[in-house]
Amino acid sequence: MKFEDYRISPEIKKSLEKLGFKKPTDIQYKAIAPILKGEDVLAIAQTGTGKTAAFAIPVIDMLHVRKSSKRSNGIKCIVMAPTRELALQLTEVFEQIGRHTRVKTFCVFGGVEQGPQIAKLEAGIDILVATPGRLFDLVSQGYIQLDRVEVLILDEADHMLDLGFIHDIRQLIRHLPRKRQTLFFSATINETIKELAYSLVNKPVRIQVSPKDPVAKNVDHSVMYVDMDDKRFFLERVVKENPDKKILAFVRTQVRAERVVKAMERVGIEAASIHGGKEQRDRTDVMKRFKSGAVKLLVATDVSARGIDIPGVEYVVNYDLPDQPENYVHRVGRTGRGTQKGIAVSFCSPEEKPILDEIQQYLTKDIKVLEVDKEDYEATIDFSADAKYDWRALMKEAEEGEAAAKKKKGKKKR
Ligand code: ADP
Ligand code: MG
Repeated sequence: MKFEDYRISPEIKKSLEKLGFKKPTDIQYKAIAPILKGEDVLAIAQTGTGKTAAFAIPVIDMLHVRKSSKRSNGIKCIVMAPTRELALQLTEVFEQIGRHTRVKTFCVFGGVEQGPQIAKLEAGIDILVATPGRLFDLVSQGYIQLDRVEVLILDEADHMLDLGFIHDIRQLIRHLPRKRQTLFFSATINETIKELAYSLVNKPVRIQVSPKDPVAKNVDHSVMYVDMDDKRFFLERVVKENPDKKILAFVRTQVRAERVVKAMERVGIEAASIHGGKEQRDRTDVMKRFKSGAVKLLVATDVSARGIDIPGVEYVVNYDLPDQPENYVHRVGRTGRGTQKGIAVSFCSPEEKPILDEIQQYLTKDIKVLEVDKEDYEATIDFSADAKYDWRALMKEAEEGEAAAKKKKGKKKR
């Protein structure tokens, strides 16, 4: 069935055509009808399979139709997302799909002044996309009323119901009308969270697409055994061998993100970083540059692991393995989106082997190993523009260290 044949508003069909969406994806095919019927939905489908439009199309349609029959003010739908970048991206999709309708979407998130957001809120918003912290703040201060909300959507639902967010979410749900439609979407969910999710919905329709392999089929993913100290040489090689590709590299910490960017700059590779320690303005700017292709290598922490849909990311590198096994699925899912194919490679050091085992257990299968023989391994290090620099730097460091130690000794004697 094509979108043309759906019983949805012509205004929405027009936007879908403009976006190049002809046929619904599996998850869209399965989710749109029950949502239009008003059912609660708990949907699990792989990364990059079009979950956003699966909830955006029916919700915009319902609100558009209702709005033409009665005039009532107030926010009708709340969409929650774990990060600011994802909230912005979802807003963009709602705006694109709803462009010709009467439905207005707006976005609020933390890290920026709330004044301008409050001013906009007064202009009559139908759909509010938000990160939980800022939404909760604005609600507690009385700037947002939730008593007219008809639909609650949690994107990346398992993460939204996890430790870091569940408190804010529970507080918010208290402000919502009891009679509402609740929609949960994610690529992953575990048993504990599933139970929690069930306690928040009413006789939900459960939709699960290809549950056997949580990694999207368009992602060719493998692991490579690399010593911790050699990882930068291997990233350098990946970048230099793929000069035209957009590459997203994930690291464990904010400090490591900055370090990897510096290491890449030393060998003539321009890179940018994104993580929770950066000003929001910088985060937004970096995302823009990566989207446009002005910068080809983005080094990120798990803030960018979920939901982010950047066209043309052909390569994901797990520079460090993720601490949470499900984030492996989300990280590698930043490539191979829609009909695109993608490659993901994980650098696993000996000390990370237990994390790899945990990930493989989670996936219920082993990840393909990219064998690097000794010669090739050495060649990668030799190939680095940094090898000489590093050798000299180390010598210098050692000399300086020795000199400092001598000086200290001398002082003590005196
Ligand atoms: P998910 O949330 O499942 O990870 P997204 O909603 O971010 O996936 O969509 C992934 C990509 O697929 C986006 O770039 C989106 O524009 C594209 N897409 C979604 N639905 C369709 C469709 N029906 N036809 C073609 N492309 C689509
Ligand atoms: Mg998504």
